[in-house]
Amino acid sequence: MTKLKYTTVIKGHYILKGNFSGPTPELVELIEDVLKKIKNKTEFNFNKEVLNIVVESNEDETFAYEVFMQIKNKLRDTLKTKKIGLKNITVDSAELKIPAEDLSLERIKDIKIEYVSDIKFENNNVILIINNLDEWFLKNQFLRNIPNVFFEKIEKLKEAGKKEFWELIWTSKNKCDCRFTLDPTVEALKKGWLKKYPMQGVYFFTPKLTAIFRAIENLILDEILNKLEFKEAIFPKQIPFEIWKKTGHLTGVPAEVFYLSPAKTRDISIFDDINDIIKITNTIPIEKYPSRLREPIGGYCYAQCPPFYWFFEKEIIPENVLPIKWYDKSGPSFRWESGGLHGFERLNEFHRIELVWLDSIEGVISIRNKLMECYKHIFDNILKLEWRMARVTPWYYAQSGKITATELIKEKGTIDYESYLPYRGPRESSEWLEFQNISIHGDKFVKTFKIKCNKDVELWTGCSGIGLERWAVTIISQYGMDLEQWPSNFQPYLKEAKQIIETKLITWP
Ligand code: ATP
Ligand code: ZN
Ligand code: MG
Repeated sequence: MTKLKYTTVIKGHYILKGNFSGPTPELVELIEDVLKKIKNKTEFNFNKEVLNIVVESNEDETFAYEVFMQIKNKLRDTLKTKKIGLKNITVDSAELKIPAEDLSLERIKDIKIEYVSDIKFENNNVILIINNLDEWFLKNQFLRNIPNVFFEKIEKLKEAGKKEFWELIWTSKNKCDCRFTLDPTVEALKKGWLKKYPMQGVYFFTPKLTAIFRAIENLILDEILNKLEFKEAIFPKQIPFEIWKKTGHLTGVPAEVFYLSPAKTRDISIFDDINDIIKITNTIPIEKYPSRLREPIGGYCYAQCPPFYWFFEKEIIPENVLPIKWYDKSGPSFRWESGGLHGFERLNEFHRIELVWLDSIEGVISIRNKLMECYKHIFDNILKLEWRMARVTPWYYAQSGKITATELIKEKGTIDYESYLPYRGPRESSEWLEFQNISIHGDKFVKTFKIKCNKDVELWTGCSGIGLERWAVTIISQYGMDLEQWPSNFQPYLKEAKQIIETKLITWP
């Protein structure tokens, strides 16, 4: 990150007591002498017994608050000789002066920052004014982080109107024959392969559709995981905020995650009144629940890989155990997709196999390349799909709140795999479905989680998320609901799915 240029101005006051009888020339001279020895720009004036002090510091000098406190110590010693004491040492406000450069009032007028009470324009500077400062805030030098937040918000505003970065890098030779042009969710509902569950974006998958997911999983096991020697691990699905703080999700996708709030105590009596209401009126008083629940202790799995980086946090990895190649398929991911829901390709609860690997730079790139070869083989030769690849904003930026691609060098970044869905219209103009992706994060997580190797090996990580529902929607969209019509090379995997007869009830589907 480039160093930001700005000036910090601390405005505060001390109250003089004891032998103080107004700002005599002698006293003013004493204060001037003290301030002369300070290399920062300072100002002072009197208001009865209140001595107002202003200290400036730019990024390279001592932090203005430290200087403000130094002045206090020096003044205290000096004034002691005159039997004058100092009390109520208070910082009244801080101002951060940032050179306006290409900023204008118009561009910043909508920006709001926590702790910042006002944003002004003055002499070609943007001035951020911070009142109500306490010692905790000042001592920890949190003021220093405010300009970063300010510029991040400016960047966000710039990106607001822009389209997400997307660059096509490959299109399959296979073209779908469009023998089937219906919406897989509608057809699968008719056939009773799944049933809408009374939760937004959640379906119950029957044995038939589940067997199709397992067929896909088995294909992935044979053609990728076992071939490339990825080992299965069970990654936790409850994510503490501390982990998301490090991966960026905490501030990047806070409106998309599901939060975890257990009851305040295990004492059931805190629910007594609620239970009475349910029993007496047969209604559920939902509004009474929040007051019985704890503050969230974390959130539900959004992307599977964050606990992987936690596992290796601050650990030293012997070179001979590299590469580490693990995958997780132990449970669902949860996202509050809200308005974006459509069928079972976009769910609030979905299933994904996620592969994560950790190795030297060359190792990570080589694993990624081998994976891409395996994927290509599956899509071209086994599933015979119409698909394409696009370079997109790396997810580790996107999920920390950015939409432009800041890492597009050949090795790092995210590649999305997209499939053509005939039911959505012509291939040229309709939206294709991202059914999986693959990323190299460079040293991003290795750095934030302080992962080291015992030898002088620079470590990188990569991950790839394979969405089971999205693979299924892709195959159904291109081949239809009759499994016999699915590609012959996939048939061996479909034996079980084909044997399952759909459960038909008198009243359903
Ligand atoms: P989209 O742009 O379609 O929302 P995304 O960029 O949010 O996808 P990623 O965060 O990259 O998706 O997640 C990795 C993979 O997880 C996707 O390729 C997809 O297979 C799967 N996935 C993500 N969100 C959903 C969802 N809501 N329902 C089903 N699968 C999903
Ligand atoms: Zn991941
Ligand atoms: Mg998404």
